[in-house]
Amino acid sequence: MCDTGLVGHTSRRRWLAGIAASGCLTVGAAADEVTARAPCGQQPSTADLSPREAVDFLHAGNARFVAGKTAAPNRDIARLRQVAPKQTPFAAFLGCADSRVPVEIVFDQGFGDLFVTRIAGNVAATENIASLEFATQILGARVLYVLGHTACGAVAAAARAEPVPGQISALFQHIRPAVRAARGDVAAAVRENVRLQAQTLVEGSTVIAALVAAGKVVVAGGVFDLETGGVEPVTLEPPAR
Ligand SMILES: [Zn+2]
Repeated sequence: MCDTGLVGHTSRRRWLAGIAASGCLTVGAAADEVTARAPCGQQPSTADLSPREAVDFLHAGNARFVAGKTAAPNRDIARLRQVAPKQTPFAAFLGCADSRVPVEIVFDQGFGDLFVTRIAGNVAATENIASLEFATQILGARVLYVLGHTACGAVAAAARAEPVPGQISALFQHIRPAVRAARGDVAAAVRENVRLQAQTLVEGSTVIAALVAAGKVVVAGGVFDLETGGVEPVTLEPPAR
């Protein structure tokens, strides 16, 4: 559900027109060239993006990052002052706490754009679900994005199942179903973990399930590659109704 190309011609034209009107992005004739550079550090308003358009918008930002053509939008003091009275992030994230996966940088966004919860192994623990309910129901985020990453230490540790100090093992109960489904292969378990955590977000929250059923929120998933910087979308199961 998070593949690119989901945006219809009409809405894509509207989106592209908005980008062009901003005067910041150099947009080519083809829609796929929307990843072009935005040198002035701003981006068009995300207020009118549909949930699926918002997913495409995120992936376009990641494509800019991979290409070394980041716009680094909305990162100055003026933007902070703009959003200080009120936040309206267009996307919310359940990402891993790993220091190499800073979500705003990965997707080339800035202040006020993303509501990000991060926890080792990007697990859908109760408090994370609560935060993401707030992001969607109250703040109006239209995307719930579960972001795993290659070589995730939490997933690898859950696969090893060796004794660990303190409360680290509390994470494992959330990750073991993915490890079992992947038969211990860490790379496959990372992808499966994205799928299962996304499923838990929907099935574990009547608030999120209702927003998804109403078409107000899209749940998407991906795996960030620590070597390339790219995010590979993960196909999610249709949410349970
Ligand atoms: Zn990780």
